[in-house]
Amino acid sequence: MRILLAEDDAIIADGLIRALRKAGYAVDHVDNGQDADTALLPQMYDLLILDLGLPKLSGIDVLRRLRARKCTVPVLILTAQDGLEDRVRGLDAGADDYLTKPFALPELEARVRALTRRGTGQATRIEVGALCYDQTERIVKVNGQLIDLSAREMGVLEVLLLRIGRLVGKEQLVDHLCGWGEEVSTNAIEVYVHRLRKKLESAGVRISTVRGLGYCLEKSGDADAAA
Ligand code: CA
Repeated sequence: MRILLAEDDAIIADGLIRALRKAGYAVDHVDNGQDADTALLPQMYDLLILDLGLPKLSGIDVLRRLRARKCTVPVLILTAQDGLEDRVRGLDAGADDYLTKPFALPELEARVRALTRRGTGQATRIEVGALCYDQTERIVKVNGQLIDLSAREMGVLEVLLLRIGRLVGKEQLVDHLCGWGEEVSTNAIEVYVHRLRKKLESAGVRISTVRGLGYCLEKSGDADAAA
């Protein structure tokens, strides 16, 4: 899951970036509306967190341009406490939800989970073999037992599960895992996959390596096409 954060207040941005990364999201940050508009052109984000009071181009304008391009990425707007009018304009312009500053981080994280779930259009729970992944809680269980995964391992597994049975390129995984300025090599991805295989040994799923291309997660015993 990759999030673009458009926020010009350095302190708020810092706190958000730290909290979201800790929760396993890849976060890119821009501090003005123009950069946000540019960053949103390739449509690679799962969520936009958008402060409405941005320099160069207002949050509302960023949002209107985004929706005018028919981009459906979920948008969570951040508004001032007395900004009722802003909230209404934001929702009218196509925002999915809003948070009023100041907000508590757990509340932000809950909204983010809800919006990224809506964005994928998938069930909140994915079951494959004995593995159960709860997207809302971001927990993985095998035969009912909680599996301890690092944020990065969880990130890799999530991408593979959401594309079950399909090939996921290593570069695609890198893109989903890290924001700008963060380094995750394709070698590191191999390590995360290796650890996931060990931790999910009894789960009845298999992560196949497609040489030179990437990975594919399947239920064990399914067709060996990707082996
Ligand atoms: Ca601002």
